Amino acid sequence: MQVAALIVAAGKGERAGGDVPKQFAPLGGLPVIARAVDAFGGLPVHIVIGAGQEAALADALAGRAVASVTIGGAERRDSVRAGLAAVAASGATHVLIHDAARPLLPRAVIDRLLAVLEASEGAVPVLPVVDTLANGGTTLGETVDRNGLCRIQTPQAFRLDAIIAAHDAWTGDTPTDDAQVARAHGIDVALVTGDPTLDKLTHAADFARAEATLGRWQTRTATGFDVHRLEHGESLWLGGVEIAHTHGLSGHSDADVALHALTDALLGTIAAGDIGSHFPPSDPQWRGARSGQFVEHAAHLIAAHRGKIVHVDVTLICEAPKIGPHRDAMRERIAALLGLDIARVSVKATTTERLGFTGRGEGIGCQAAATVEFWEWRQ
Ligand code: MG
Repeated sequence: MQVAALIVAAGKGERAGGDVPKQFAPLGGLPVIARAVDAFGGLPVHIVIGAGQEAALADALAGRAVASVTIGGAERRDSVRAGLAAVAASGATHVLIHDAARPLLPRAVIDRLLAVLEASEGAVPVLPVVDTLANGGTTLGETVDRNGLCRIQTPQAFRLDAIIAAHDAWTGDTPTDDAQVARAHGIDVALVTGDPTLDKLTHAADFARAEATLGRWQTRTATGFDVHRLEHGESLWLGGVEIAHTHGLSGHSDADVALHALTDALLGTIAAGDIGSHFPPSDPQWRGARSGQFVEHAAHLIAAHRGKIVHVDVTLICEAPKIGPHRDAMRERIAALLGLDIARVSVKATTTERLGFTGRGEGIGCQAAATVEFWEWRQ
């Protein structure tokens, strides 16, 4: 028995919300389709996607090897048939047809399907119906006897030539799954026990429920603090914005004290040292450099740790210039650097009542806080 998996991932998935089709959306820090591929652990995996989804798939798979990628058709059945042709060309004798939107596939379900496939042309995982069923409408209709009813999941397993012949012979309306096509062609479909984690991800709430079984988002907060000296003849950069002022800040790079404090706050969430260890002041390449690149570097490191920046807060400490007129320009610039909604970027200012070095106008201080969520697997 040469078994291959066929993942049907051609849907547009609008009901899950967001602008990304649900098969490419992240689930617990990994794209849904990547989880589905990983679940087949070692079996050759063929994938069917929609036209124009090639780049999204490549991004989501992040280097995972798959046996083939086929562009699907207008309806699910067209996509399945295109995928089955690719599976046939690979020399497989049996196929597990799986919906990408059921990424949490236990190995035990695959093993149960393969065990019965030795003696059967088809097999599907099912779960009993536990809720009371009744006819709907504007008011409740008659209760339907649920004895003998079951919920059918995927993967659906078939002898390859049998399911291809069944699809070739199908003349009905749009089938809801492949087992329906198989039965219409006289194929006996055996039942194995499914698994609640296989329930389809349809709505945004399904993602939250599925994520809760995998792990949890843990919030980390870190702070940064920086000071630069105010001097004549320097330009003044604050929060990535150049501000006309009598003095400017001197020091490392463009001396943007706000972006330096922010960079340190971001680095703090991954305990990755401070801005000076990533961009040493002694290194001439950072002289006069725009500080936005330091913020972007920290954001990339966080992304590599599968962190999600959710909020940043920057407080400038100075008597002058007035920050208020520049606040929204700074928020916009920081939001752009972090790929964050501007509503999640706070810029504030305070004086020290003319006390201390900020009070005397000798320098500007800044403190920043960053809040980042990181995915942690359940033990
Ligand atoms: Mg600095």
